[in-house]
Amino acid sequence: CGITACVADGDVVDELLTGLANLEYRGYDSSGIAVPRGDDDITVLKRAGEIDALRDAVAETTLAANIGIGHTRWSTHGAPTDANAHPHTDCTGAVSVVHNGIIENHEALRDELRERGHRFTSDTDTEVIPHLIEEGLSDGLATDEAFRRAVDRLEGSFAVVLLAAGETSLYATRRGSPLVLGLGEDRQFLASDVPSFLEFTDRVVHLEDGDVVEVDRDGYAVTDSDGAHVTREPTTVDWQP
Ligand code: GLU
Repeated sequence: CGITACVADGDVVDELLTGLANLEYRGYDSSGIAVPRGDDDITVLKRAGEIDALRDAVAETTLAANIGIGHTRWSTHGAPTDANAHPHTDCTGAVSVVHNGIIENHEALRDELRERGHRFTSDTDTEVIPHLIEEGLSDGLATDEAFRRAVDRLEGSFAVVLLAAGETSLYATRRGSPLVLGLGEDRQFLASDVPSFLEFTDRVVHLEDGDVVEVDRDGYAVTDSDGAHVTREPTTVDWQP
């Protein structure tokens, strides 16, 4: 339903919670965030119910990171439970994603992944995505290549943002679901809708279907599904936060 993500010079946990609260108007049944812990691991906090439940869970921790992803879920596959809330991770815990939309071929992918030894911890269509990315990484692909290869396997409509442990960039793509980039002075945002980050920046890049974007704290690069560079210029939106 709602995606928010941020990469910055400083801590982004507040930006993630603010970004999610700014998307509440869309409706949701659960919410969650993921941030890296060290170079090999990712911490995921997610709760069914109101964003306040997530906020309380975050308040009990000392989470701090300069990169992270967040999601408000409107469930299509799997009940609105803590386990089914996003972000979703792979078996290693080093890959986490948030997803809007529907993966139509999730059952076939899940069967295939299970046969190769993957274990699933949710009932969502989304969870196949981190497992596919994990396979690419364990095959020795770079993060962007593993992301691209995983996305190539997906049928349906989606916007997906990837946070991988040890990475200073976020990777994202869309097909049939909205995804926008927000360019701040010292922090960059990804979101399903401009209002998520409008209080931080009004410079926006509208991504198109098939775009793959890599974002770090200094800037962004957009490629098509084959990895060829595409130009997407920022515009300034004339909206009030
Ligand atoms: N299909 C996914 C799920 O049920 C994502 C739903 C959404 O867009 O929030 O978890």
